[in-house]
Amino acid sequence: MEAGGNSLPAASGGDGTKRKVYYFYDPEVGNYYYGQGHPMKPHRIRMTHALLAHYGLLQNMQVFKPCPARDRDLCRFHADDYVAFLRSISPETQQDQIRALKRFNVGEDCPVFDGLFNFCQTYAGGSMGGAVKLNHGLCDIAINWAGGLHHAKKCEASGFCYVNDIVLAILELLKHYERVLYVDIDIHHGDGVEEAFYTTDRVMTVSFHKFGDYFPGTGDVRDVGYGKGKYYSVNVPLDDGIDDDSYQSLFKPIIGKVMEVFRPGAVVLQCGADSLSGDRLGCFNLSIKGHAECVRYLRSFNVPLLMLGGGGYTIRNVARCWCYETAVAQGVELEDKMPLHEYYEYFGPDYTLHVAPSNMENKNTRLVLEEIRSKILENISKLRHAPSMQFQERVPDTEIPEADEDQEDLDDRWDADSDTEMDDTKHADEQLLKPPVQSIKIKKEAAETEIKDQEAQKVTTEHVKTVKTAAEDTSCPKIPDVASMSLDEPSGVKLEQESSNQPADHPPAAAHSKP
Ligand SMILES: [Zn+2]
Repeated sequence: MEAGGNSLPAASGGDGTKRKVYYFYDPEVGNYYYGQGHPMKPHRIRMTHALLAHYGLLQNMQVFKPCPARDRDLCRFHADDYVAFLRSISPETQQDQIRALKRFNVGEDCPVFDGLFNFCQTYAGGSMGGAVKLNHGLCDIAINWAGGLHHAKKCEASGFCYVNDIVLAILELLKHYERVLYVDIDIHHGDGVEEAFYTTDRVMTVSFHKFGDYFPGTGDVRDVGYGKGKYYSVNVPLDDGIDDDSYQSLFKPIIGKVMEVFRPGAVVLQCGADSLSGDRLGCFNLSIKGHAECVRYLRSFNVPLLMLGGGGYTIRNVARCWCYETAVAQGVELEDKMPLHEYYEYFGPDYTLHVAPSNMENKNTRLVLEEIRSKILENISKLRHAPSMQFQERVPDTEIPEADEDQEDLDDRWDADSDTEMDDTKHADEQLLKPPVQSIKIKKEAAETEIKDQEAQKVTTEHVKTVKTAAEDTSCPKIPDVASMSLDEPSGVKLEQESSNQPADHPPAAAHSKP
């Protein structure tokens, strides 16, 4: 596998041009601390940033401090009471909130720590901000290494994730793009994002992950989406020790086919670095170049690209990986010998950007990989054509103030046509149920449409997994969240209510097994 940018045969159009890259970073993010012994270390974002600075990569892109996501922004996906809880909880007050902690799955894997809510606002703000910049055509690639927290659910924290910045960013992109592709190369299944979009054909989710006796337990190859979303969820289950060649023998044919058939207007790539060799929690054997090959390949399609972080628990390798992937995004080559910088001592004894993968056994046999590949390609071919809906009219791109480098965006910023700016008093589900905005006229109609109760709609998978009944969880219904929005009605003429017209074979709500 070759290092450096622009080496791939372009799948669509040439890959020889530079890309305009926007990068979101908050200097405070490295100070958040999950607690002693916790593997998730936001400090790795600061280490990445230091490497970017000393490799000279910050000069090649515009740097933004993210605007903190507001409650109303978070409530586009998350439940009001969950967001209010995250805002209110603190290490000092948590003893008084035992029931709420349990209800929202906060306390163990997802601990309460100082500044928790600000941390959520920051990482979500970066991803949403990146989506807005892409929507406005201001950049080709937007990067937020603090984002990518793919396990968070509508009203539950999970797997070190509290709010799902990816779902929020995709919702933002859906205002502008008819179809959005989500690709997840974290070692863990991208369950929160898949679940949110499980019943829509406007978002295709493709997750490559370790499957079998591994958190979060979901992501079977047979889980393909439901209803209109059937075959729009793709799961690539992998085993321990997968190496670069094996990984790419699936990644490229699958993503190539998805790009051809689904034709997304924008791509979100979750670059979880726990799929690297030597990760503290992971068990794959990818090199940094092998991991970055996914970035290089997706970049070659010349489709607006949002790159996010995710897992990654051997933090020196996380910083190496995300620095290198930033360079790939820019189309810049980096020397293997690392520049001196404030965290230099983390990278001994070699002080190089790249590290050799290990000699661990690759448990993914050629035969099994071939079976997975052909099964998935067969499923994708059933899509035949991308959903054919066309834009009727589109909101003109709103001029947003051009923030200076290292300057914070203005606070009521983002997107003047954003429906996050609308009436704050609206119920979160109503906000969620509005279709992605294609025109001002349509948005108004959508806002005026009466929304029916979505409680009854509790679909997740055809291949039914662990079932958690509604009775166990009445306070916080596990609706397949965003999918219950009428994403399939971009014309906004009516809001389809599947709950009032459910097929008889509707499976019950499925919940995901805990670690
Ligand atoms: Zn992970």
